[in-house]
Amino acid sequence: MTCAIDRWTLTQAGLEAPDGAALRDWQLTRLAETVARIRANNPSQAARLQSFDGSLESLPFTWPAELAADPMAFLCVPQGQVARVTTVSTSGTTGPKKRIFFTEGDLERTVDFFALGMTMLVEDGQDALILMGANTEHSIARLLQKAVGRLGVHGRIGDLAWNAEETLEAARTADCLVGLPSELLYLCRMDGTLRPRTVLLSADYVPECVIETLRERWGCLVFTHFGMTETGFGFAVQCAAGEGHHVRHPELLLEVVDPVSGRPLPAGEAGELVITTFAQEAMPLLRYRTGDRASLLGSPCPCGGLLPHLGRVEGRIENDLDLGDGRILSIHRLDDLLYRLPSVRAFTAGVERGKTRPTLTLKAESSEPLSLRALKETLPDGLEVILTYGDASPFARRGKRRIHETTEDP
Ligand SMILES: [Zn+2]
Repeated sequence: MTCAIDRWTLTQAGLEAPDGAALRDWQLTRLAETVARIRANNPSQAARLQSFDGSLESLPFTWPAELAADPMAFLCVPQGQVARVTTVSTSGTTGPKKRIFFTEGDLERTVDFFALGMTMLVEDGQDALILMGANTEHSIARLLQKAVGRLGVHGRIGDLAWNAEETLEAARTADCLVGLPSELLYLCRMDGTLRPRTVLLSADYVPECVIETLRERWGCLVFTHFGMTETGFGFAVQCAAGEGHHVRHPELLLEVVDPVSGRPLPAGEAGELVITTFAQEAMPLLRYRTGDRASLLGSPCPCGGLLPHLGRVEGRIENDLDLGDGRILSIHRLDDLLYRLPSVRAFTAGVERGKTRPTLTLKAESSEPLSLRALKETLPDGLEVILTYGDASPFARRGKRRIHETTEDP
């Protein structure tokens, strides 16, 4: 019955059978302990915790801008116990930086969760190529390498300086590939003869058409993982049933709220994901506004999992560019649209909104010309579209995708 993650959750929470309400009670007890721990270790938080009455909703939200303005205000252990500090931009690559702190224990629990999730993808004696994060101490890549090592799997870390050809060569012998959707799609369209058994997509929005392409061309199982630095990297991962994501319930509480009103939304309704990381030692975050759009699933997972699980993560809300009159353009919708075309390996997008008509400039790396008319029909009305062709390799500019404002080089 059910997957490794749900079984672990039941053991941690001391539950005999999957019971969402009993799990929630157990999590709220852990939350109360965490609030007491924050009060004891960080008196500067006392005022914001005053309203706490044992329920999650009685706590105020924590906003990314608050973390950026004063990260030390959220530190809950003496500085000497901090094993890693990660710096993350709050918005695009230009926003103010947040600093996230981890203890050895926080990093160790992340490795435990990674190992648990990876049992669904790899087995003893296999080889995994990890194409994310730098090869530095405590980087995501190293934590994942350590996790698969515990399963008897040889984890290799890709070099961020590799181009697509070098990466493809390294990927040829891998049983499992872990990486960003845009990079793996690029490799897949370069060479359909690779035969990884499994692929794990993470660290950016995952278009459905990328999953389908990898499955069909490489004949592999495709899993998606959702995580963010603020949650200690690991957060939720798909099981082999390929539907919702099984959540790291013993260490996190999740909510989906209306992004404008902050009102909690029922299962099945998409809104902003809000996360409470009650098990983090260095920097437990209470009701942290992630800026990611997702929904909770009301139905059980086909694997038999009955605990609450997370549906598709639909990308970052801040990536919705408002063109006026209710017209929204986002890199996620462009990815859905263009990656579906079999000739497209990659593309970049830039937008200029200052003009009377906003202009979108697309540079596509495609083996065939694209139909500008067909593209325009699926894009917001009144948008000028300029289509150019050229090298758009995601290996030339690594990281999360976004639409570049055309004052920048797209
Ligand atoms: Zn499942």
